[in-house]
Amino acid sequence: MTYPKIAIVGDRYARTQGGTLDLHEGSAQLALKEAGVYEQFLAHARPEGEVLKIFDATGKVLMDESEGVGVKRPSAMNNRPEIDRVLLRALLLDSLAEDSVKWGMKLVKVEPHADNETYNLHFASGQIETGFDLVVGADGAWSKVRPLVTDAKPFYSGISGLDVKLSDANKRNPDLGKRTGGGMCLTLGPNKGILAQRNGDGAVRCYAFMRAAQSWEKDSEIDFSDMESAKEEFLERYFGDWDQGAKDMVLRSDPDSLLRSMIALIGDAAHLMTPFAGVGVNAAMEDSLHLARNIISVKDSWHTNLPAALQKYDVDMFVRAEEYAKQTWMYLGLFFHERGGLAMVEHFEQAQAREAAAAAEEVAKSKELQTQAAREELGKETLETECSKVPAAGLEIPTPVGAGFGLHLE
Ligand SMILES: Cc1cc2nc3c(=O)[nH]c(=O)nc-3n(C[C@H](O)[C@H](O)[C@H](O)COP(=O)(O)OP(=O)(O)OC[C@H]3O[C@@H](n4cnc5c(N)ncnc54)[C@H](O)[C@@H]3O)c2cc1C
Repeated sequence: MTYPKIAIVGDRYARTQGGTLDLHEGSAQLALKEAGVYEQFLAHARPEGEVLKIFDATGKVLMDESEGVGVKRPSAMNNRPEIDRVLLRALLLDSLAEDSVKWGMKLVKVEPHADNETYNLHFASGQIETGFDLVVGADGAWSKVRPLVTDAKPFYSGISGLDVKLSDANKRNPDLGKRTGGGMCLTLGPNKGILAQRNGDGAVRCYAFMRAAQSWEKDSEIDFSDMESAKEEFLERYFGDWDQGAKDMVLRSDPDSLLRSMIALIGDAAHLMTPFAGVGVNAAMEDSLHLARNIISVKDSWHTNLPAALQKYDVDMFVRAEEYAKQTWMYLGLFFHERGGLAMVEHFEQAQAREAAAAAEEVAKSKELQTQAAREELGKETLETECSKVPAAGLEIPTPVGAGFGLHLE
């Protein structure tokens, strides 16, 4: 039996600076289960990282799940433990056979081979690898595989800002460590936010984001070659009257931490989206789960059936991606709202109310079903009793009307 030769384009050491990711039950966690690495994930997962706090720009606490202050998020958002990006990537890669990944190969382009059946991969070193039956573009936002299937290009979401890190926060900046807690701490003002998140190594990753024109960095004339003064100037200009605790998250950050066909696409290469619903990696892992399932389902007949399996993957992927894109766009609106954190808190309140109403409806429905079953049971018994009373032939037995022979049950 021959298997398709598959190229999956990506790289182990990218995004090392990245923070932490919450993995959802029905998507990323399912992918880990099928990959046989769920136990390893549990060993590194941080359920305590799920806790959310929201402050307003003046420093007032609007909600704090760790202290039971204000509203809680709906239970549909439970069971999403955090894991550091670097650990997640390591556990996935370590589960593969040693020689299944070739490192240091920067892809420049993919071309169909002259045989029109396979693909050639061109690398920056000049090397060309040939004979791939299937190419999976897992190469992120600026995918070099994507142009084979679409002209679509990423567009600017309108949100930009700084990305910093506070190492060993509890020891070096205990007040900021306490403010962040074990999970996520959002300070949200009109159309801006300082978003801090605890990482597994004790660091706090922090983003100071705002709605801004794409050219804001150039327009601001802030000298980003001097990071320390740039942070001060940036905060003064864009977050001037904000709570000092939120601004200190950026000001006291680490000095060096300011950073700037037969083709299938997965993750950001397929559907780059903003990070505000925390779904990107979940969507990427869900894609990989479904793509793997679809490939495996035709492994014995891939010559004939792989194109259809890929097409099915594509169709389903777009349905999922659209839903996730809607979520992240909605959360973008809530994170950077003219009424700051109040909008997010109200959103959770409404979601809670909907959840409570749905639960009440569920209880009412199940009561109704029980009552109906009891009526039917009683009706059956009554019919049996009536029948035993009139054994003589020719006597008409009343036809049951509805449940319980018209008996009224309270
Ligand atoms: C600030 C921020 C916070 C986020 N927070 C969350 C969150 O909390 N939860 C969540 O679910 N998602 C979050 N996301 C989104 C998430 O990071 C992405 O959706 C996810 O990483 C997508 O995975 P991917 O494998 O598709 O792409 P990537 O993680 O970008 O991986 C692509 C890989 O391809 C490699 N590559 C690129 N070009 C080439 C080439 N030419 N040749 C060879 N290799 C190449 C790269 O080096 C990289 O390793 C966040 C994103 C950002 C920016």
